[in-house]
Amino acid sequence: MLKREAHDEHRLFIDGQYRSALSGRMFEKISPITGSVIAQVHEAGREDVDLAVRAAKAALRGPWGRLTVAERASLLQDVSQAINDRFDDFLEAEIADTGKPRSLARAVDIPRGGANFSTFADMIKNLGSEFFKTDTPDGGTAINYGSYRPKGVIGVISPWNLPLLLMTWKVGPALACGNTVVVKPSEVTPHTTTLLGEVMNAVGIPKGVYNVIHGFGPGSAGEYLTQHPLVDGITFTGETVTGEAIMTQAAVGLRDVSLELGGKNAAIVFADADLDKAVAGTMRSVFSNCGQVCLGTERVYVERPVFDEFVARLKAGAEELVLGGPDYPGVGMGPLISAEHRDKVLSYYQLAEKEQANIVTGGGVPQFGDDRDRGYFVEPTIWTGLPETSALVREEIFGPCCHISPFDSEDEVIARVNDNEYGLASAIWTQDISRAHRVAPQIEVGLVWVNSWFLRDLRTAFGGSKKSGIGREGGEHSLEFYTERANICVKL
Ligand code: NAD
Repeated sequence: MLKREAHDEHRLFIDGQYRSALSGRMFEKISPITGSVIAQVHEAGREDVDLAVRAAKAALRGPWGRLTVAERASLLQDVSQAINDRFDDFLEAEIADTGKPRSLARAVDIPRGGANFSTFADMIKNLGSEFFKTDTPDGGTAINYGSYRPKGVIGVISPWNLPLLLMTWKVGPALACGNTVVVKPSEVTPHTTTLLGEVMNAVGIPKGVYNVIHGFGPGSAGEYLTQHPLVDGITFTGETVTGEAIMTQAAVGLRDVSLELGGKNAAIVFADADLDKAVAGTMRSVFSNCGQVCLGTERVYVERPVFDEFVARLKAGAEELVLGGPDYPGVGMGPLISAEHRDKVLSYYQLAEKEQANIVTGGGVPQFGDDRDRGYFVEPTIWTGLPETSALVREEIFGPCCHISPFDSEDEVIARVNDNEYGLASAIWTQDISRAHRVAPQIEVGLVWVNSWFLRDLRTAFGGSKKSGIGREGGEHSLEFYTERANICVKL
């Protein structure tokens, strides 16, 4: 068993070492389950960020930069294996970060943390290259082929909702392509990113390849990272307004960005759908992770003949959900991440009352009469009866709630789903295969699921359109972002 270095006090991880912040500043990590302080976190100042970025830059020219692709891939397989070997440590860290049900973290977050390294390790070994044979003006021949090199130092800025999964989703392919990274996890979820430093050292990832700086966004580590001139590319997952700020900062020096942003995702349930599956899938897409999933559904459109039945069944499902901490018996939904986020979600719950929505279920803070009253819980909530113009139907809430509307025709529902400034994901529930193929390409999003939700193959493109993001990652799309390509033309 490896020594755990930094759990109650999260230091920075720079150049292969855990270090106290030169800034001398610390902030607190509060548990979403109890509302009490569970860790002190070192906040990186500009000097700390500079140290981390310079370490990452130097590592590009060190042993890491001299590894063959096969050697690099093998090391990343070791990282994946080491995450699995320390499964329970990562599970505890993920739970400390988020308070989510243990069963959810065990089934989704930790396995994906490992898979994000093994998948891209495999992929980089099989990366092909384009090739063109060209006739030259003198009647001869030239050959052209694409050559790849790492982009350089990648700034990885990640959110709090799926902290290990979304951070490794960037770090895995970035390292597979030979880059080095400086990671700024969300200030409210420092545990798993810090722990990963131990794994990197244990498997022999050279120092400076993986660096962690803790802190906030503006006037803190996040902004200092995006402003640093030696950062060659920034990959960001988080809110749309933050993405806009980061893109503005990255414009100085023309640094490339990949932005995975917010969503206001719709599910469409046609009357011919298998209703058992549509209800179960929508339950997951609305309430999983307490609704804090970028791909989650907050708008549901149900064809009128099955509207009443669907609403009644989703209501029953929501009311059966057991709320509690990670190990609460039968728990189906944990708390929101923070008091601040609970206030935001509750402001929408209050708006629903003001706008006289029909509150089908929930709409407030549950009273348990036990320890759970200390956590940041809100009730699973369903509304109907609001117009499409309502902020509840248009804005991302990021909580365990949805609005359900009836619809009468295919064209109508496509128009209503597309009438939103976000364009991340959508789920279509129908047993009519022609309809599925007809409707899916018309939805203005980056990801459409038919008769499923959150079914991910890491080789496929992932990302959003409109205000949900810029660029695609996943499979060859990640390799595209994390490499610089050069065409090499050889006159024969
Ligand atoms: P956020 O934008 O508040 O913060 C994300 C990260 O950015 C944090 O690490 C934060 O410290 C940092 N940050 C904030 N301001 C910054 C700045 N000016 N410069 C540099 N860094 C800055 O997002 P969040 O609240 O942590 O996460 C929830 C949001 O993430 C939701 O909108 C959700 O939809 C989105 N999200 C999107 C995807 C996707 O794949 N599209 C996935 C998960 C979450």
